[in-house]
Amino acid sequence: MSVLKEMFENLAKKPATTLYPKEKVPIPPAFRGRIAIRDEKCIGCSKCAVVCPTQCITMVASEREVEVKGRKITRKKKPEVELFMCIRCGLCEEYCPTDPKAIYLSNEFSGAGPDKSVVVK
Ligand code: SF4
Ligand code: SF4
Repeated sequence: MSVLKEMFENLAKKPATTLYPKEKVPIPPAFRGRIAIRDEKCIGCSKCAVVCPTQCITMVASEREVEVKGRKITRKKKPEVELFMCIRCGLCEEYCPTDPKAIYLSNEFSGAGPDKSVVVK
């Protein structure tokens, strides 16, 4: 009898879980989501690739003019990240010298899938 009572009570209530993806859960301030790159900010210094503990960042050829401390220089490379090798430690973001950061952990948490070779460019 008590089971039936509980069942009818629950039928009258709103869902206890969040209706993802229609409703997204609030993201805490220090959340570490998937890695992202602002290529327009990248000066090609390679610091991110040097500090990455899983070596999931590859510097690939990409030449263009960038401004560093008021001086124009030619950037030779840019980073690409193997998404599923990234452990979201945040070291690349910490060492990236640009403001805003050219490489950073975003608020994006969805994106699971069967393709293990996703590269963030
Ligand atoms: S968050 Fe860590 S593991 Fe991921 S790309 Fe940056 S340094 Fe590498
Ligand atoms: S993302 Fe930042 S640390 Fe990495 S190469 Fe570009 S400017 Fe340097």
